[in-house]
Amino acid sequence: MRGRFAPSPTGDLHLGNARTALLAWLHARSAGGRFVLRVEDLDFGRVRPGNMEAQLEDLRWLGLDWDEGPDVGGPCAPYIQSQRQELYEDALRRLAAAGVLFECFCSRKEISAAASAPHAGDEDGPAYPGTCRALDPSDVKRRSRGTSALRFIAPAGEVTFDDLILGTRTHAPSLETGDFVVRRKDGVAAYQLAVVVDDAAMGITHVVRGDDLLSSTPRQLLIYRALGLRPPAWVHVPLLLGPDGERLAKRHGSVTLREHRESGIPPAAIVGRLAASIGLAEPGDQLMPEDLVGRFKLEKIGNRE
Ligand code: GLU
Repeated sequence: MRGRFAPSPTGDLHLGNARTALLAWLHARSAGGRFVLRVEDLDFGRVRPGNMEAQLEDLRWLGLDWDEGPDVGGPCAPYIQSQRQELYEDALRRLAAAGVLFECFCSRKEISAAASAPHAGDEDGPAYPGTCRALDPSDVKRRSRGTSALRFIAPAGEVTFDDLILGTRTHAPSLETGDFVVRRKDGVAAYQLAVVVDDAAMGITHVVRGDDLLSSTPRQLLIYRALGLRPPAWVHVPLLLGPDGERLAKRHGSVTLREHRESGIPPAAIVGRLAASIGLAEPGDQLMPEDLVGRFKLEKIGNRE
């Protein structure tokens, strides 16, 4: 068993990120598995220098450790996505050869204007209306200047996968998101592609992550299939919500791990609080992640808000 945590260094980690990291770590450690830390820094516009180091420090302060990662190395190095572009380009070549990609020249504005409201998609915005899918090759040639976005053709029909907490999930990617971007306009691999290539190359057997990523999973499964790769088992865990029922995010004023650390709170108090929020400890308990290994059970975190 190999698990992982894959933070994006776009800001400081908050308690929600910490709980997801703790659960992924507990899931791997309670099964005697290895734990990998991978940094997903492809969102260049939002990544700031020093964020990665600060996040690793926060996680270590919390009592988490990893067998492989950017600071400790390992057999699947490098563990930072911006240093893995060649692997993504190779995957894109294989997908192109399989005939599942096309170049897309649409702007965001054109896509929103053309999309029909009833099938509006998820976090990526409205479902892609298919504009460039059937462009004439001479048109493609004429419009190609520098790099263009590449989209993966979402086949009609449903995609089904099993989540170890949520059970069988059925999605229709062609309606939910339409053909989706696997290489951005700037030539960089999109999250959907990079995460698949890396989880496969790093031999990740179990992906434990926040359920905000649930809608991405069917797209990732399509990429696994097109590349002939074996998908991992997925475990989407509930996000820790703020008192207002909203997802935690820095912009909502939630306190970051770094702020907690600098305020002098012991890490055991934070771990205790996170563990209590998923029924692994009593409110007020102070403990470290290793104290929880023996009592961790996936079933305990299911069916919770
Ligand atoms: N890098 C993603 C994030 O921070 C997580 C991706 C994943 O776990 O698949 O939201």
